[in-house]
Amino acid sequence: MTTKVIDVKNGFQSQDDIKEAASILLAGGLVVFPTETVYGLGGDATNESSAQKIYAAKGRPSDNPLIIHIASPEEAEPYAVTSETYYRLAKAFMPGPLTVVLPRKESIPLRTTGGLQTVAVRCPSHPIARALIREAGIPIAAPSANLSGKPSPTCARHVIEDLSGRVDMILDGGNSEIGLESTIVALDGNRATLLRPGAITADALRCVCESVTVAPSVVAQLAENERPLSPGMKYKHYAPSVPFVLLKGSKNNILDFLKKEQKEKKCAILCYSEETAELENKNLVDIGKSENLDEQAKRLFTALRDADKLGVDIIYGHLPTTDGIGLALYNRMLRAAAHTILEV
Ligand code: AMP
Ligand code: MG
Repeated sequence: MTTKVIDVKNGFQSQDDIKEAASILLAGGLVVFPTETVYGLGGDATNESSAQKIYAAKGRPSDNPLIIHIASPEEAEPYAVTSETYYRLAKAFMPGPLTVVLPRKESIPLRTTGGLQTVAVRCPSHPIARALIREAGIPIAAPSANLSGKPSPTCARHVIEDLSGRVDMILDGGNSEIGLESTIVALDGNRATLLRPGAITADALRCVCESVTVAPSVVAQLAENERPLSPGMKYKHYAPSVPFVLLKGSKNNILDFLKKEQKEKKCAILCYSEETAELENKNLVDIGKSENLDEQAKRLFTALRDADKLGVDIIYGHLPTTDGIGLALYNRMLRAAAHTILEV
């Protein structure tokens, strides 16, 4: 299959482009589109064979459910059993980087939900994503547009690396604004369980929900055969091809350790901007200032992909704080490092 790449950094340049993208989806094909979180690999959520094609293109296990993307919160009605809390969350955070898990209606095939009786619903804020959903007139099932196990794509270059020849079209909208996938919550009345942390933080959710419990799989390693509430959490993810180790300790201890390692090993470092002047300028990947968690979120997946191409034997990074969006960074970095933390 040849993959058509269209530049939409300044919006859809012609009616023909948006019509072509929508008609690919309606005919059961696959279109990669930008969102404010990461790029999505889109297909018709109501079409079983589209879901099957998505799993095949990603090489993703078919028990890992897909999120359905709609243009406004009420559009969930034909596909999911909504609730008062859903609409209160929608009022506060949609359109935006929040996914809500709701009971499924029959119109969404089990193939899309990975066999679950629930469906995850999200209403993205990115204008290209919204225009595409509106034009197609269907909910778009879209996991992150990476090969299974690789970091989620935050620019078209990542998507092309992973999916060229496997999808019909890629819409290149430039760099993703947030850079980490959406926050996912499951609801029980007015109580929420945080299944995956993202830019909508636990504290922000607490302004709407009576209580917010963080699912154990967000910060802890699952025991063998343990079933997480969110199936995706059990899969190895974001992992570079060489060991990735997260360092914990004081600023000075970490710098001393890294300086020593640079002399003794072929290592790459996901370092803070202020450390670049202190370390040897070799295989450093700047992930932003230590205080700037938003910048680190934005750069993390590119940094992991770039570090993996340096031909080193080991990659080091900092164990992030769990405050605010830090919890999302912590969760992704922990999984990329297969929970390897070194205290120095
Ligand atoms: P991705 O689309 O790559 O961001 O991954 C989607 C994530 O959403 C996976 O980790 C899934 O496990 C999770 N997810 C999707 N649907 C559901 C659902 N019905 N219940 C719980 N988690 C879900
Ligand atoms: Mg993903």
